[in-house]
Amino acid sequence: FVSSAVIMKGTQDEKQEQAALSQAEVQKQSIQEVRRSLPVFPYREDLLLAIQQHQILVIEGETGSGKTTQIPQFLMESGYNDGGMKIGCTQPRRVAAMSVAARVAQEVGVKLGNEVGYSIRFEDCTSERTVLKYMTDGMLLREFLTEPDLASYSVVIIDEAHERTLHTDILFGLIKDIARFRPDLKVLVASATLDTERFSCFFDDAPVFRIPGRRFPVDIFYTKAPEADYLEACVVSVLQIHVTQPPGDCLVFLTGQEEIETCCELLQERCRRLGSKISELLVLPIYANLPSDMQAKIFSPTPPGSRKVVVATNIAETSLTIDGIIYVIDPGFCKQKSYNARTGMESLIVTPCSRASANQRAGRAGRVAAGKCFRLYTAWAFKHEMEESTVPEIQRTNLGNVVLLLKIWQSWYSPGINDHLGIHYSYCSVTLLIFPLSLPFPLSLNYIEYKCSEEVLTIAAMLSVNNSIFYRPKDKVVHADNARQNFVVPGGDHMVLLNVYTQWLESGYSTQWCYENFIQFRSMKRARDVREQLEGLMDRIEVEVCSSGGDIVPIRKAVTAGYFYHTARLSKGGYKTVKHQQTVYVHPNSSLFEEQPRWLIYHELVFTTKEFMRQVIEIDSSWLLEVAPHYYKNKELEDSSSKKMPRKQGKAKEELG
Ligand code: ADP
Ligand code: MG
Repeated sequence: FVSSAVIMKGTQDEKQEQAALSQAEVQKQSIQEVRRSLPVFPYREDLLLAIQQHQILVIEGETGSGKTTQIPQFLMESGYNDGGMKIGCTQPRRVAAMSVAARVAQEVGVKLGNEVGYSIRFEDCTSERTVLKYMTDGMLLREFLTEPDLASYSVVIIDEAHERTLHTDILFGLIKDIARFRPDLKVLVASATLDTERFSCFFDDAPVFRIPGRRFPVDIFYTKAPEADYLEACVVSVLQIHVTQPPGDCLVFLTGQEEIETCCELLQERCRRLGSKISELLVLPIYANLPSDMQAKIFSPTPPGSRKVVVATNIAETSLTIDGIIYVIDPGFCKQKSYNARTGMESLIVTPCSRASANQRAGRAGRVAAGKCFRLYTAWAFKHEMEESTVPEIQRTNLGNVVLLLKIWQSWYSPGINDHLGIHYSYCSVTLLIFPLSLPFPLSLNYIEYKCSEEVLTIAAMLSVNNSIFYRPKDKVVHADNARQNFVVPGGDHMVLLNVYTQWLESGYSTQWCYENFIQFRSMKRARDVREQLEGLMDRIEVEVCSSGGDIVPIRKAVTAGYFYHTARLSKGGYKTVKHQQTVYVHPNSSLFEEQPRWLIYHELVFTTKEFMRQVIEIDSSWLLEVAPHYYKNKELEDSSSKKMPRKQGKAKEELG
């Protein structure tokens, strides 16, 4: 039933079978025994001594050696949290921060959120008692705004440093700075076996502590010819492994949620068709937006006689370690963000991963026993078509938010430095800036004179989950599109999102309502959580939340106040961005796709098949001078045909539907 997507080296390996069995034994051992069995354990004392002797230490160790879960516990056990000081450990990924914190809380024997907790955007699972805090690198960056010297921390661990995310890279700079005037602060930079010399060099030749890894050999197989459909090739390979290979779990690397879901469906369907002809295959997805109870499933031991297949994004490359993996299937792709600073265009495209990535992926097969990695590309492609290593995010992303954050940080401590910029920092309170939102929203909220924070909070919450609000099943496309059309109100997509939320609220947050209107309940629930959190923050800073009472102009002005630099003007054949004269298009999903108003603010600019503006709102060009006089000149906004606009202005005053 299977085509030969992969060349198999078929002989059964008894040793491997035994190793897989003994793995099952290991899972039965108590947590403490598991802890003692990790590669980092024998180095506990040496490591603690090195930390005592050096302020900054780079720690290198194979994925799964216990860096993330064990080192913070060693620090706790030897009193680094005395006097209520905190140990912070950053992770580039939300899922990793949550999952690792849960595991460590279990190991320490405390309730998650008490002594051990985590903090990620929109979710703070910590308390007064928390001394070990896992968090995303972005959250630590924001803490700099309220606590510029990180005074409450005794140790900061920058983990997964090799990932070189934008936030991690910025943290390097800030932490290097504060370490100079806080000699009591310990800084640990933890990384997989990649790039550690460079980290050491950056931190003035900080010593590197190497945890020798245990690694079993991994046989690598390539396809003879390129695969036309790598998803199908994955499915075929998994089934082939399942029926021909000795016990051991399987890990498949795909690029995102949609692909992962499709792959899991295909696998389940084919297993159903094969029925009792094959032994049980447990198919488990893992990606960032997966609910956390589902995420936890990937760690539960595989029942004897069955095989587990985990279908994952890059997250399983180094951030999470799943025990028992013997087989890895690697199609060789990942989703990568890129950004063109000249045009302001962001894109997220599936591209070949780097050789360094491919090698990390293969390494996942050799943790518990000798393993096999099936690369769904040719050996030639590996050598000639893949980059040596992944380009750091800082070189391929929009730096706007981070620059703004750094500027604000700087302005608190060197007042006057931003005077020449004339940006409205003066009325941005610190607390608003630590809102877990992209920075323009606090600017919008600061436009408090417009008295519509109620609506702005909803819009911000909805945009934070936006790309997953509308549900469009393949077999009900027409119904789904009609349902979506019914939500359209004047003003633009932000207003549509507001309308969806308002109607859902009026339905009593009903699941049934979501189902009938082709709205994803899970996303709405998340938007509601986000909104509640934002409202709580407003309450804390004693700003009253109030509504515009149906008038849509102030709402759109507030959005303009935050996103004034995302303006596009109608011109021949499409739109042009105001500052860069870049040709852009309204996304076909937008409620303004046909209307084509003269002036627009877009939420994001994304290149997919064309340069699309996603989430657009209609504005009046005069507002731009009102909210951003430092950014726009009268001349730039002159509009030869502006006199033909009275009809539009009448429209702007229409009430919410
Ligand atoms: P490193 O950071 O060096 O890659 P970790 O500390 O993440 O290593 O992992 C050490 C061990 O802890 C691994 O064997 C891993 O399987 C286990 N582990 C980590 N998180 C969980 C979890 N949520 N559930 C069960 N085991 C886990
Ligand atoms: Mg780790």
